Amino acid sequence: MDSDTASKTQNSILEQPNEPLMFEAKTIPLKGIGLVALQDIPQGTLIIRERPLLVARPGAPGALEDFLSSELKKLDKASQRQFLSLHNNFPGKHPFAGIMKTNALPCGSGSEIGAVYPTICRINHSCLPNSQNTWNSDTKIETIFAIRPIKCGEEITIMYDQGGPSTVRQASLKQSFGFKCSCVVCSQPPALLRESDARRSRIQQLDGQIGDPFQMLKSPEKSLKDCHSLLQVLKAEYGAYPGALAARLYYDAFQISIAHGDKTRASIFAEKSYQARLMCEGNETPEVKRVKMLATNPSNHSTFMAYSSKWKNTKKEKFGEDDNEAFERWLFRISN
Ligand SMILES: [Zn+2]
Repeated sequence: MDSDTASKTQNSILEQPNEPLMFEAKTIPLKGIGLVALQDIPQGTLIIRERPLLVARPGAPGALEDFLSSELKKLDKASQRQFLSLHNNFPGKHPFAGIMKTNALPCGSGSEIGAVYPTICRINHSCLPNSQNTWNSDTKIETIFAIRPIKCGEEITIMYDQGGPSTVRQASLKQSFGFKCSCVVCSQPPALLRESDARRSRIQQLDGQIGDPFQMLKSPEKSLKDCHSLLQVLKAEYGAYPGALAARLYYDAFQISIAHGDKTRASIFAEKSYQARLMCEGNETPEVKRVKMLATNPSNHSTFMAYSSKWKNTKKEKFGEDDNEAFERWLFRISN
């Protein structure tokens, strides 16, 4: 390894596990630079893991500019060049803050702290992404995993926003990142886009109902039924690869079951959530390790029988291998 390669490994790409290289940075029409797959990449593959160049909280542009300027001075020349070569959708008198705003990814779901990366920040957005970015709070490293099979020549994409119908997504992407989305979902013919919008609104609505603690307490059967409905809508909108949304749904179903003492279903839901997470973020994050532990010991969860013990004597029923539908109805407590 020559010194140039060594410093590159240290500063940017920590690991590209497979040889030859899985992707290259390339100009994408109307989008600037993006990453394009150089080989077929199977679902669940680690594409890249990378340490941040800079980490910052949002703030007034002037104060953020001063903070970034002093942080940037602490970096070596190569890292400074990497930061300055990132795209800025907000040109003006605060160029560092503009680069940060255009490129920063949250350090964890919902975190207001953002980080920029030399390579990961080249990955463009899609409302139907083929990859997922995940922040590991233990290792302070961001990973990108393929959440569906990616064909050689296909652009690698992640999702920047929180979802919802296209008008909401478009407004949020414009405001936060300064671009108009023209992904495969947003550029569908109007009739198909309306159907997609209806599904994405329904996903948000069901998500809200499932998260309602009063429904979970008083009518957990309804909450589980909502989980089952959400699974159907996710399959219709995202096909066979709903990614992190499926992991979250199964985790919600786990919580509903365990709060009423049903260790049998809770264990199955935790296992399904674990398998879905594994595909999106590998086996190293604290969250994935915790869900794996809960699949083995669901009663370790702090809300075990917190709402009631009415489901505590549940036994697993036997289903034939091709009796998936009956198994799903049993799992989600859908009565005939
Ligand atoms: Zn889009």
